[in-house]
Amino acid sequence: MQRLTILGSTGSIGTSTLDVVARHPEKFQIIALTANHQVELLFRQCKQFNPRYAVMLNEDAAAQLRRMVSEAGLITEVLNGAAALEQVAVLPEVETVMAAIVGAAGLQPTLAAARAGKKILLANKETLVMAGNVFMDAVRASGSVLLPIDSEHNAIFQSLPHGYDGDLAGNGVRRILLTASGGPFRDMPLCELHNVTPEQACAHPNWVMGRKISVDSATMMNKGLEVIEAHWLFNASADDIQVVVHPQSVVHSLVEYVDGSVMAQLGNPDMRTPIAYGLAYPERIDSGVAPLDLFKVATMNFFAPDFARFPCVSLAYQALRSAGTAPAVLNAANEVAVAAFLDKQIPFLSIPSVIEAVLDALPVKAVGCLDDVLSADAEARRAAQQQIQRLAK
Ligand code: NAD
Ligand code: MG
Repeated sequence: MQRLTILGSTGSIGTSTLDVVARHPEKFQIIALTANHQVELLFRQCKQFNPRYAVMLNEDAAAQLRRMVSEAGLITEVLNGAAALEQVAVLPEVETVMAAIVGAAGLQPTLAAARAGKKILLANKETLVMAGNVFMDAVRASGSVLLPIDSEHNAIFQSLPHGYDGDLAGNGVRRILLTASGGPFRDMPLCELHNVTPEQACAHPNWVMGRKISVDSATMMNKGLEVIEAHWLFNASADDIQVVVHPQSVVHSLVEYVDGSVMAQLGNPDMRTPIAYGLAYPERIDSGVAPLDLFKVATMNFFAPDFARFPCVSLAYQALRSAGTAPAVLNAANEVAVAAFLDKQIPFLSIPSVIEAVLDALPVKAVGCLDDVLSADAEARRAAQQQIQRLAK
């Protein structure tokens, strides 16, 4: 029986994880579930999975959940606050932590799980973008098993040699081909992009996801963040990673070897495949995903990315090359800009301009420890807010 904590259980990845878990009650037991403030959904999850702990970040929401749980006679203890997220990520009885909180809020509990040597199913890519060296050092020091859940990185993981040791050249790898759907605005005339709404940006053609990552997919910052994520996961330089636009999202990414072989992982665009892979690793279990029907797919296309249309991809490559605090600054400025766009404070095309201005304004510093990351994050958020206020005038 594998005992699990799911950080962010009410989100898109969290609910897909519980869907896979529910298919295998003999294999998995839920010890802790966490959410920001979605009381009703977390309560339903508590009734179904009977966790030992449920964490709500928000205090009022926690009080409400505590009442509901006690009235229903459940065993679940309700905790609240950021410290409780870390507490349930390091419980001695927990073997595996699904890191599925969105954004920078996921960093500290995920890092705590790494320091405690847990098996980590990593969906929260922001952890690696912000604090790649601190996090990877913690994984190595504790001997954590780190399994990428992001579909592209899961595909790369599956396409690299088993037990890959972080040496691309030594394993005969020429480069990594990171696929991207291109999002909902891949073909929209540039002049129309200025006026797109949050609803249009969140309507992804292939994947159903949370709002933040949906906007990231529309700006293609998601692919930029994934380039940085791949750098840390596979010890790949910016030059080792080629983004390939593939609108059907069937080939989830590829690894090209020096002998001309190209290994890929294919499947329907459904996150339950990488989630089931991570949960059962190194075994395979049913995920509930429909078999891939190649006759129905019929055609697959591949294009070079359009860096002029999607400047966020170039900004991310630039931040990766600058190293140090630059990726944390990129991530923070992006989170603030995306929130402002979702809140209708800035137009879609101002997202990259805010990020670029913040990257230009802040000096790149070295990252020695978590505090270096957190202060760069805070400084970048302040600078991004100033940029947004300037745009509003
Ligand atoms: P989501 O918005 O659907 O869910 C986010 C979860 O985090 C929710 O449970 C929410 O309650 C919780 N949360 C939000 N803010 C919080 C805070 N401040 N403190 C504590 N908890 C908080 O997001 P998602 O689409 O499931 O994405 C989760 C992560 O997985 C992101 O990092 C995303 O980039 C990554 N990811 C998602 C997908 C996908 O298909 N959805 C694919 C690849 C990677
Ligand atoms: Mg992805």
